Amino acid sequence: MTTSATEANAWGVVGQYAAVEVLRRAIAGGHLAHAYLFAGPPGIGRALLAQRLAQTLVCPSADDPTLPDLTTRASQQIEAGTSPDIERISIRGVCDEASHDHTTDTSTRIRICQIRRLERVASMAPFAVSRRIFIIDSADDLQADAAHAILKTLEEPPGEAVLILLASDVNALLPTIRSRCQEIVLRPMPHTELAAALRERTGLAAEDAASLARLAHGRFGLAMRMHADPSIAVLRQSATDDMRRLMRGGRNERFDVADRLGSAWYRERESVLATVDLWRDWWREVLLATSGLEASPEAMEDARGLTSADAVRALRALQTARQHLLGNTNASLALEVMMLDLPQLATAGAV
Ligand SMILES: [Zn+2]
Repeated sequence: MTTSATEANAWGVVGQYAAVEVLRRAIAGGHLAHAYLFAGPPGIGRALLAQRLAQTLVCPSADDPTLPDLTTRASQQIEAGTSPDIERISIRGVCDEASHDHTTDTSTRIRICQIRRLERVASMAPFAVSRRIFIIDSADDLQADAAHAILKTLEEPPGEAVLILLASDVNALLPTIRSRCQEIVLRPMPHTELAAALRERTGLAAEDAASLARLAHGRFGLAMRMHADPSIAVLRQSATDDMRRLMRGGRNERFDVADRLGSAWYRERESVLATVDLWRDWWREVLLATSGLEASPEAMEDARGLTSADAVRALRALQTARQHLLGNTNASLALEVMMLDLPQLATAGAV
């Protein structure tokens, strides 16, 4: 019986039944928090969960105030990102500085000027709804001064505003940000459930749905994106293959890759960051496997030679490298340090 966790999900956020129920109970009981932290990797449903929470607060169904009425105009505006009372704050978003144009500059982080705008807008009465809603997508991208600025807003929440922070790596956030938000963790779906949900929505054959579910690491949103754009699946697989080779590779091979990525950093930041993020995905999968949880066959195989502590060390190394890259330290050096911290697998089972 798997429908309880997927289909009986009143908000349509596939695989996130538990998270939806926590929020519905808070709305029903009138104890909604001022700030939420939706934690989980990209493609797991964080953004859709935030959107459904906004829709439920702004346009509740007449029959049940814990359900959104998706047929209203306001609800459709939220879906389209044009609602005047819901702001999404992300990299290259708007700020109040006339001289700034973050859509064309090379911002790789959420800037403090964007958070200043949030503070200003949050202090104004909303246009059409009872409270303003801000979605920070994602808190991982906050520049250090922006993170401190948002902390101030979280300490003194303005009026009726609700802040929703999305984050992949909550451990990398300021502990004071975490402690001021109610944290809701989104977990990967069991692969069999995800495969069933994919078959129902896409009509994929059983075997294809099962392999897509594995490749998507139990994340419905990611699986649907890979279904729509097969090149994403190819990129993921090639990043996984590269990392599995590096795990078995010596210092020279690792430093070659660090150098190649380090020199690419100045031209193609997005693609280097994407590679680092795909490697983090891989190590999260290995961590599941070392913890005795369901994971892809490749991760299960590599996990035999590793402990959970190894996987955690690799995830920390990748996270630190990501922060150093974005903090403008020497890119090759940051990547070399990361490579030295990656666990080494015996070469017997070479890929
Ligand atoms: Zn700005």
